Amino acid sequence: MIKLQNVEKIYRTSSIETLALNNINLNVKKGEFVSIMGPSGCGKSTLLNIIGLLDAPSKGIIELDGQKVETYHDKAIAPLRNKMLGFIFQSFHLINDLSVIDNVEIPLLYRSTTARQRRELAEEALEKVGLSNRMKHFPKQLSGGQKQRVAIARAIVGKPEIILADEPTGNLDSAMGNEIINILQSLNENGATIVMVTHDDAMAKRTHRLIRLFDGTQVL
Ligand code: ADP
Ligand code: ADP
Repeated sequence: MIKLQNVEKIYRTSSIETLALNNINLNVKKGEFVSIMGPSGCGKSTLLNIIGLLDAPSKGIIELDGQKVETYHDKAIAPLRNKMLGFIFQSFHLINDLSVIDNVEIPLLYRSTTARQRRELAEEALEKVGLSNRMKHFPKQLSGGQKQRVAIARAIVGKPEIILADEPTGNLDSAMGNEIINILQSLNENGATIVMVTHDDAMAKRTHRLIRLFDGTQVL
């Protein structure tokens, strides 16, 4: 489902070059739940951004669902990103002056859907994360764990094949973090392929496979 071949990422600023990813080869099969761990600055977010087509590699080949990514022009790539991928972040990234259900509908605004279809899909997504009873709430009225569940609903509302999560439990206590992993596990059991960056061994143990990065290099 996700294939990276000889991927390298170099960040260039005026005087400094940083080799953030060094010859990464990765093959995540459909239905896998993979975690990525490693010390701060080792390239975890860079790797997730490259898998998520948010950033282009300096070298190497990316394939998502058998489709080689040939161009990073926004016009070509935005629809692919929108259709294939759902993103979850440590700090939720909800829009505070939109209700829960309006937040969840956001990804669908970039597709040809009617208001009624958007509402139905958003309700379905909120049901999957157990938040049907909070649709009209606003983010500030929710606990951290609930906010992350809204963010998960937003990530899955378009039924993407792949979910990318960058430290989804990093701002939560362990009970709430566990709830979030429970939800990710059930999405995975229902077919989603998931790649999750985490600092938490207990969370990583609940995934199928762990990828360790050190200084931009994959280690065993
Ligand atoms: P992690 O997520 O594991 O903490 P990152 O992927 O954020 O690591 O960063 C990997 C390396 O690339 C670090 O050395 C970081 O300083 C560098 N880096 C990340 N983003 C940029 C950028 N936009 N410009 C320059 N260097 C960057
Ligand atoms: P937690 O202890 O899990 O952080 P809170 O004590 O913040 O949760 O909230 C408990 C419940 O009350 C939550 O389900 C949340 O939706 C609801 N709630 C919290 N603050 C507000 C608010 N300002 N308005 C409406 N509902 C709220």
